[in-house]
Amino acid sequence: MLVHIKEIIQKAEEGGYAVGAFNTFNLETTQAILRTAEENKSPVIIQISEKTIKYASVKVIAEIMKSVAEVEAPNVPVAMHIDHGKSMENIKAVIENGFTSVHFDGSEFEYEENIVKTKEAAEYAHEKGCFVQGELGTIVGAKNINQNELEDLSELMTKPEEAQEFVERTEIDTFAPSVGAMHGMFKGGEKIDQERLKKIRESVKIPFVLHGASGVAKEDIKEAIQNGVRVVNIDTRLRKEFTFALRETLAQDIEEIDARKFLVPSIEAMQKAIKEKMDLFGSTNKA
Ligand SMILES: [Zn+2]
Repeated sequence: MLVHIKEIIQKAEEGGYAVGAFNTFNLETTQAILRTAEENKSPVIIQISEKTIKYASVKVIAEIMKSVAEVEAPNVPVAMHIDHGKSMENIKAVIENGFTSVHFDGSEFEYEENIVKTKEAAEYAHEKGCFVQGELGTIVGAKNINQNELEDLSELMTKPEEAQEFVERTEIDTFAPSVGAMHGMFKGGEKIDQERLKKIRESVKIPFVLHGASGVAKEDIKEAIQNGVRVVNIDTRLRKEFTFALRETLAQDIEEIDARKFLVPSIEAMQKAIKEKMDLFGSTNKA
């Protein structure tokens, strides 16, 4: 059942747990996410990236999300969100198509410019009754980091003294700090700077969103939830599950040409990973 994201986040805040924000890009990924939410009686955030908009168009993917939510997840709260929205055009388009939350990613700009641009996006979204997530600091990914340089990450992380000003001036509703998690999955390099998170929490009282959580250890995630994380983004892990299962299924029967058959194990593999995350975040049975 589609709801405004604020309902989901408020309940998570009161209950001290986090909700998964899972990326979808097509019908099958959407089915996997929303079926698992229904089965686990878990609230869920389903999100798309600008790459998915390019791939499927806002209207088409939004209609898939809405109809699957209606048919396959009638008893659990579902909210639609755009992850790493960089263009105002896309932000506007998703709001028009029923999204109740947008991430405006101005992290590539200098501090002052990030504030001005994020505030602009927030003003627009708020007029439309939509939640806004802002990002400060660089959440690095496979593209912009060399695995051998992992120890230098702290320079790119959110500075606690800037976080308070950023949140106040932009008037965002949720905050994505850079605290050590990275986009993509890294071999043993990711560690959340919990002390930094605690420090930010002292002055920033709005809910935190953890990006790049696919490769973060369970205990680290749990501690981050205790330190104010209410939304955890999962993308890479799901794509991995989908693709690895597909490769295996196709290799097992090279004669099979029915996608309605060979995509099923991919959906199921994703569901297993999503359930594991919902249990870890504490959102299972919270619908
Ligand atoms: Zn992210």
